[in-house]
Amino acid sequence: MAIISCPHCHQLVDREAISCPYCRTTLKAYGHPGIPLHRATGEDSLCDSCTYHADNTCNFPQRPYAKECTLYDNLADTQLRLETQRQASSWTGTMKSWSQRHQSWLLLAGLLCVCLLIALSG
Ligand code: SF4
Ligand SMILES: [Zn+2]
Repeated sequence: MAIISCPHCHQLVDREAISCPYCRTTLKAYGHPGIPLHRATGEDSLCDSCTYHADNTCNFPQRPYAKECTLYDNLADTQLRLETQRQASSWTGTMKSWSQRHQSWLLLAGLLCVCLLIALSG
């Protein structure tokens, strides 16, 4: 069972819980365990750190003062995710172009390995 901390009373509760069993704070929207309800913890609204506010794609009426939102997406997390993806794809790209440039050497090394295996097994 995955555990989260209640944003209101900070007790540990089941991640799937629709409301906090200690303070009754609603944790999921529409009573559905699959729809998390994000809540601002301090004075700032959720929109201040939301991806959809930053890229101006949100048209919820509560923007930019939302204290609760089902669609909230943390901007810092998204940027970190994109950066990780970019690094992974650039590494893949580097490997691809390196192997294309050294295709003949790789082929030769592969053939040598096969020959060595045949010689050792014989
Ligand atoms: S999705 Fe929610 S938190 Fe994000 S900008 Fe829109 S209203 Fe604000
Ligand atoms: Zn609680």
